Amino acid sequence: RAKENGRGGHAFFERYMFEQAEDHRLLEQDVREALGGDGLTLAYQPIVDARNGKIVGREALLRWRHPRRGDIPPDQFIPIIEDAGLIHQIGDWVIREACAEASRWDGRMRVAVNISAAQLTGAGLAKTVLGALAASRLEPSRLELEVTESVFLGDDAATLASLERLRSLGVRLVLDDFGKGYSSFGYLSRAHFSKIKIDQAFVRGAADGAQDCVAIVHAILALSRGLGVETTAEGVETEGQAEIMRQLGCTQLQGFHFGRPVPASELFENSAAAALRRA
Ligand code: C2E
Ligand code: MG
Ligand code: MG
Ligand code: MG
Repeated sequence: RAKENGRGGHAFFERYMFEQAEDHRLLEQDVREALGGDGLTLAYQPIVDARNGKIVGREALLRWRHPRRGDIPPDQFIPIIEDAGLIHQIGDWVIREACAEASRWDGRMRVAVNISAAQLTGAGLAKTVLGALAASRLEPSRLELEVTESVFLGDDAATLASLERLRSLGVRLVLDDFGKGYSSFGYLSRAHFSKIKIDQAFVRGAADGAQDCVAIVHAILALSRGLGVETTAEGVETEGQAEIMRQLGCTQLQGFHFGRPVPASELFENSAAAALRRA
């Protein structure tokens, strides 16, 4: 009987693997179709100055509304895009679109774009960035490129050269999700980052009074001050979380407490509505 169960389990597992692969293949087809139409869009989330709550920039976040399945989160569809070999094409579109959008904003506001490790391989990225800046006439220093430490897990020399090439264009490099995974302070000296984003797990933990989280955030902030690097606390959902990050000395805050990611069309609707309410 045990043997039968074992076989049954095995068949079940195979079936499961088959369905996963099948699902992946179907989604891959769907994402190719979305590329041509308006299935893929960008949402923008505000990043505010910790001292006064003023918006200093916005992060562009990729959205995919599947015709039948509804919204699929980027953590799920970006690996599919990468496997399909579409990350360069889609990533380039994200950069051009975000730069064009940001060129319509207040002249000091920055736009942040996420770059995955796969995009850093090859020489095409710097060319895309240069083209996007030229077409939008966005000042290079208003574009931030966010990478996670995962970019350092592959070919180190090539990655560093790629990051340095980007930085030489005048754009700002940001280390995203710091504290999550294998984050090491060593990564901070690898490339010249302008900003560190503290992972939301630490923001939550510190606000919940977890002393280890407080100590780690404290250390990250001390280090970034020493390096002359800005810091953004991610995933700030409550005033309590905002307050503790402010007290610890974080320079910028981002999270649902200050604004959710919204389509570009709603950015101006909101400000117009706000202006009307103030009037
Ligand atoms: P990320 O770059 O760390 O982006 C922040 C994520 O946290 C976003 O999730 C955002 O919606 C979410 N978030 C912001 N504030 C809060 C909050 O207060 N509470 C909570 N619970 N979450 C909050 P999202 O949009 O699902 O994106 C997930 C990840 O997908 C991003 O993490 C980024 O790594 C990746 N991603 C998104 N857009 C792109 C893109 O255009 N290209 C690449 N390569 N990756 C992208
Ligand atoms: Mg990011
Ligand atoms: Mg992040
Ligand atoms: Mg993330």
